[in-house]
Amino acid sequence: MGFPTHHGGLENPPYKIQPKLPKRYPMSITCNSIKMTDKNGDLNFINQNATQWRDIPKKPIHYAPKEETIMLSGGLTILQDQLIEAALRSMGENYISMPNPNFESFQTGKAYGNRGQCNPTYFTVGNLVKYLQNLRDEKGLSSEEIVEKYVYITAGGCGPCRFGMYITEYKKALRDAGFEGFRITSFEHDKGIFQGDDIDDGILNFTPKFFITLIKSVIIGDIINLLGYKMRPYEVNTGSVDAAMETCKNLVANAFLEKKNLIRTLWKCRALLEKIELDRLQPKAKVMVMGEFWAAMTEGDGNYNLHRFLEAEGAECIPQPIINRLMLSLWEAERDVLKRESLQVEGAKKVDFSSVKTRALIRIGKMAIKTHFTLYAKAIGLHHYEIPDMDKLARLGEEYYTLDCEGGEGHLEVAHLIESVKENSSHLVISVKPFGCMPSSAVSDGIQSLVTSRFPQANFLAIETSGEGAANFYSRVQMALFKAKQSAKEEFEDLDMPDTMPDKIHNYLYQPHNEKAGTAAQLIESLTQ
Ligand code: SF4
Repeated sequence: MGFPTHHGGLENPPYKIQPKLPKRYPMSITCNSIKMTDKNGDLNFINQNATQWRDIPKKPIHYAPKEETIMLSGGLTILQDQLIEAALRSMGENYISMPNPNFESFQTGKAYGNRGQCNPTYFTVGNLVKYLQNLRDEKGLSSEEIVEKYVYITAGGCGPCRFGMYITEYKKALRDAGFEGFRITSFEHDKGIFQGDDIDDGILNFTPKFFITLIKSVIIGDIINLLGYKMRPYEVNTGSVDAAMETCKNLVANAFLEKKNLIRTLWKCRALLEKIELDRLQPKAKVMVMGEFWAAMTEGDGNYNLHRFLEAEGAECIPQPIINRLMLSLWEAERDVLKRESLQVEGAKKVDFSSVKTRALIRIGKMAIKTHFTLYAKAIGLHHYEIPDMDKLARLGEEYYTLDCEGGEGHLEVAHLIESVKENSSHLVISVKPFGCMPSSAVSDGIQSLVTSRFPQANFLAIETSGEGAANFYSRVQMALFKAKQSAKEEFEDLDMPDTMPDKIHNYLYQPHNEKAGTAAQLIESLTQ
């Protein structure tokens, strides 16, 4: 199914269809391609006694040594997954980023997963099962070989939402798909260690260097993605920004692999981006996409390719970079330490050095992220991008949502909406709410109604993604976008146009920041101030 189109509002110059529209599969083809195990459809369990679920495989498995073990992961943006692969391979890790989850992954997740899971679980669990099935059915590896040699790394948490159950979900689906005993591990911000399988330290070499390299690739990925979203809606030649992004990605990946200077590489990218012809005086609606972390960030069927859809409809997106989630995790970890310190425990030491050390490490972590981000952003030419101030966002959100509830994005969804209204940073805020997501439903459907009643000027849309029902999703986005386009047009037309336009107006390096929301309006305002 293709994108429904909508012509109207602000299509000046003419509306352009972006080249990379998502590939969709008819439901019948997708369903027929899913291979069930013999157990699927077997109703013999009826009238049998219930048995206890056990994570541990029935038979002991002799796992492969480190040099034969392959780490799998993925599920961030496409560019970031590829940069992470290059970065970790540069450290000698046998690591593969899996392809972006698609509709087929979702169907596979539904076929093998428990009922009533949230949408990201189906996409990510199904994506792993699909990948392993491909290794077995297309590449000819046996199931035993796959189980012995591969390890999957994912993010984890204690919940309180379904995040705490991810590992068990993976294991259940993998067992039913014929990969019992496949190793899964995850890391959590507040433990700093791993949950899931107890994997030999020699195999997973998670040293500080490993994490620093990983974070560098994530940060550079964020920066390149942010620039892509700023530039693509204004490109004069369709596809020129995507082509430049691809070249930048290859340059950075090679820099990781060949251990070249990353800042110098980003300067090369800057020279490339400067050559792209832009027409930035088009008053386009600016749309902040937020909501549940994975659903808002993914670039594919997981959110019906929302970012590309918005761009094709004539909008500019403000995506949520991964760094936001990292900063939230660090903020939550620091808050937990401070709360623990304030507890009165009988017989406790006056100074608990373990918590002093944890706090120091968190601060170093925050500083390292900010410093690297600033350095890399300056080199490639992303100016005036503010890393979210988590304390400020907490102050904005706490009146509406307790800071103690860490499920999903916690108070962040509320805080982002309020900040966007108060600072006039977008014409529309979309909260992507995965089907079956507990925290996101509570916030987007519940608390945000109170927020929008107190901030009636907010143009807010909470939209559910279920994996199916794209037509409904697109039409609701189009309706909200119509209002946003009108606001962008009015904002632009209310401005006094200068007599002459300096050349810098179309140069991506010129990124003025003022109280206007739209890019075109911000540029004109900056000339007349
Ligand atoms: S935040 Fe929502 S979508 Fe994400 S893991 Fe938790 S329940 Fe699932």
